[in-house]
Amino acid sequence: MENIIDEANRCLNCKVKPCSKACPLGNDIPTFIKAIKENNLEEAFNVLTETTVLGSICGRVCPHSKQCMGSCVRGIKSEPIKIGELESYVFDNALENNLKIKTSEELNGKKVAVIGGGPSGLTCAAFLSMKGAEVTIYEKQPKLGGITRYGIPDFRLPREVIDRTVEKILSLGIEAKCNQELGKDYELDDIADKYDAVYLSFGANVSSKMNIPGEDLDGVYGGNELLETGKHPDYTGKSVAVSGGGNVAMDSARTIKRLGAKNVYVIYRRAREQMPAEDYEVEEAMQEGVEFLFQNNIVKILGNEKVEKLECIKTELVQKEGEKRLAPVNVEGSNYTIDVDYVVMAVGSKANKEVISKTGLETTEYGNIKVDEKYMTSKKGVFAGGDLIGTKATVAWAARSGRNASEEIKKYLLGEE
Ligand code: SF4
Repeated sequence: MENIIDEANRCLNCKVKPCSKACPLGNDIPTFIKAIKENNLEEAFNVLTETTVLGSICGRVCPHSKQCMGSCVRGIKSEPIKIGELESYVFDNALENNLKIKTSEELNGKKVAVIGGGPSGLTCAAFLSMKGAEVTIYEKQPKLGGITRYGIPDFRLPREVIDRTVEKILSLGIEAKCNQELGKDYELDDIADKYDAVYLSFGANVSSKMNIPGEDLDGVYGGNELLETGKHPDYTGKSVAVSGGGNVAMDSARTIKRLGAKNVYVIYRRAREQMPAEDYEVEEAMQEGVEFLFQNNIVKILGNEKVEKLECIKTELVQKEGEKRLAPVNVEGSNYTIDVDYVVMAVGSKANKEVISKTGLETTEYGNIKVDEKYMTSKKGVFAGGDLIGTKATVAWAARSGRNASEEIKKYLLGEE
C-alpha cells in the first residue's frame, strides 16, 4: 500500500463498529486504525494483540470481503478500507521491530500442553502464555503453523511470514516439540497426567469424498493431502479436474496449474457468486489459466483402474423452502463427459477418525470431538477447539476458537469454573 496513513485516514471511526462485528476475532478495527492515523504503530499493535496474534497471517489470507471489509461503511459508496492490509502492516512492523506483546502473571506455575500447532493451537498457546502459563506445543509436522504452512501455498502466504509469526509466539516462552504425533509418539493420557490442562487442536485435514462411483480409481486425490504433503504426480501435459469451490479448491487448482498441468478445470455445483472462495482469487486463478465450470457437477469418475474421464451434469439453482442458499439441482439429460487424467476432491474436510479414536474421547455424529460450552471434552481438564470440534474452517475462526478456549482453560486453572 502506498501510504498507510492516507488509507487509515479514510476510516470514519464508526461508533457501532460493523467491521469489528464482522471479524471472527472481533478485532477492534476502528481503534487500531485510529492509532495508525496518529502514527502510533506500537499502540495499533497493542490494540490488535488484545484479540489476535496472527495479524500478519489473517491480514493476508482472510476472506476480507466476506468478513470485516464486507461490512465497512466506506464500502457502501466507494471502496471499503483495506483492513487486511492495514492489519498485516501493523503486525509486520511489530515483528520486524520486535515489539513486545503485553503479559501478566495470573497463571504462573500452571502447565498446559497444546496438541497441534496450527492457528487454533498457536492462538490458545499464546493467550495462555501471555497470562503466565508454562505452555508446550506438540506438533506432528517438522514445523509449527498447521494449515497455514501445510495447506496454504507460498504464493498466497509467504513462508517467512509464518516463520516470523511463529517465532514471535514462541518468544513468549512457549516450548515447541515438533515431529511428535499423538497416538504414535505419545498418548493423550500420558500428557494429561503431566500437565494441569490440555488443549487439542490438531485440526481436520482429511479430504471428504463425494461418494460417487469411481472415487477409488488411481488418480483421484484429496486436495488437503496434496497441499499438506506437497507430493504431486507429474502433471506435465495432463488434464486435471478439481471438485469444489472453497479455498482448498482454489489453492489446489492454482498449485496444479503452476506445476505444469495443461488443463485445470474447477467444477463447482453453484454459480460464481456462491463460491466460498474470494472473488479476487477466482479472478487470479482465471488469469493463470484455470478454467471454471460453474453450475456443473461430477456424477461419475470413469476409467479402467486409472481415471480417464468424468461424467458431469449441468445444474440449475433453485430456492428451496427453509434454505438460505440457492440449492443446485441436476438438469436431467444434460450429462456429458470430459477427458481428464486426475481428479482432486476439495469438497470439504473432516477430522482424522483414527487419531480421534485413540484418544478415547466422545465424538459428535459428524466425527468431531465433542465439547461442552466451555470447550471441555468428555475428559476433565482436556479441552478441544478449531476444526476438530467443527468450527467454520477459516484461519480466523480457528484462532477465535483457540482464544475462547484459552479463556475457559484459564478459568479452569484458577478454579473459577
Ligand atoms: Fe472504519 Fe469501515 Fe470499520 Fe467504519 S466500518 S470503522 S469506516 S473500517
